[in-house]
Amino acid sequence: MTTVLIQNADVVLTMDDTRRALHGADVQIENGQITEVGHGLTPLGDVINAAGCVVTPGLVNTHHHLYQTLTRAVPGGQDALLFGWLQTLYPIWARFTPDHMFTSAQIGLAELALSGCTLSSDHLYLYPNGARLEDTIHAASEVGLRFQPTRGAMSIGESDGGLPPDSLVEREADILNDCIRVIDAFHDASPNSMCRVGVAPCSPFSVSTELMRDAAILARDKGVMMHTHLAENDEDIAYSLEKFGKRPGQYAQDLGWTGPDVWHAHCVKLDASEIAMFAETKTGIAHCPCSNCRLGSGIAPVRALRDAGVPTGLGVDGSASNDAGNLVAEARQAMLLQRVANGADAMSAGEALEIATRGGADVLGRPECGRLQTGARGDVAIWDVSGIESAGSWDPAALLLAGPTTVKHLVVEGRQIVRDGHMVTMDLEKTVQTQNRLARQLRDAL
Ligand SMILES: [Zn+2]
Repeated sequence: MTTVLIQNADVVLTMDDTRRALHGADVQIENGQITEVGHGLTPLGDVINAAGCVVTPGLVNTHHHLYQTLTRAVPGGQDALLFGWLQTLYPIWARFTPDHMFTSAQIGLAELALSGCTLSSDHLYLYPNGARLEDTIHAASEVGLRFQPTRGAMSIGESDGGLPPDSLVEREADILNDCIRVIDAFHDASPNSMCRVGVAPCSPFSVSTELMRDAAILARDKGVMMHTHLAENDEDIAYSLEKFGKRPGQYAQDLGWTGPDVWHAHCVKLDASEIAMFAETKTGIAHCPCSNCRLGSGIAPVRALRDAGVPTGLGVDGSASNDAGNLVAEARQAMLLQRVANGADAMSAGEALEIATRGGADVLGRPECGRLQTGARGDVAIWDVSGIESAGSWDPAALLLAGPTTVKHLVVEGRQIVRDGHMVTMDLEKTVQTQNRLARQLRDAL
């Protein structure tokens, strides 16, 4: 049943074009689509009682590496900078199989769902031992989240002066062929799509200039989106200047990697001219504050990006560098970090929630998601504000200042995925056990 009435919410934060907040309101979803947001609506199917709750659009995660949930808090990488951290983890990731990809994706997606996420992208850029993109697509289909997996890639291994071991890189012709295969097999461009595939070389330092250019041509030919890591930290900028003789933003633009069909993760180190260029071209950003803090990369210029009009979404990034994957906690971190950089009035709780909802949906090319309004998809997060986290709050709707960090209920395309704080689409306890067994085996093999 994908017809459901979310009834009598204390507050509905619509994130519509006028950012309405409706008190004592309902959200009607019919066949997966929101047909009305208002008061006293008539039940047409299932009913979810939202009394004592704040209702928001489902949160949108614009950057993740789900497979990394199997390598959280690995001792050798706990305190390293980006490049050293990668070199610690690559040999472990080289042992992954399709089973590792499937289970780790289920864990990562369930963690996102419980923290309010209804739409997530993923960036899978290594395919050892027969692993394929569809290992994660099948996981998302079971969990029930709307999914935008991207076919990532690395082609410059150690013997060519790159960072990853040769066993984790692929031939560039094979990469492009597999991009075509997964787009043809799994990409659904329809408005209610539960799976849209993107093209995503890992970063400018792990593939050739030719592959970056060819990937952009292929993505545009197929009408799919493009994603990569960009300008993550000072090492990244230094590498770009030394290797390419230009800053990352210029490198991206020269290869066709700007435009409304492109979004870049991190962008911590974009300068003023790159920000202006991204604004002009409507190139999107996946802001990953916890990961940037964890790896000591810096504070992304989100205030400047937003003020310039750069589409900005939120991402938890891979669980090896966060190491958590709680999206509403990530939104709070985004709010706090801009205040560290720019003062207490630099970002409100409402603006951070906006970035986490409609902001991310727009970055992923899904303007029909991330807002609660007639015609939008029925993706809704329902937060219980009657508990201890909100006790004493004078403004329970300011969720990111004081509020729960997990949802009470979660609805995706009108289908209930979380009920009373529990996943209803999977046996989470069993999946956690499987994940822990796989992680132990990886550790014991070192
Ligand atoms: Zn990343």
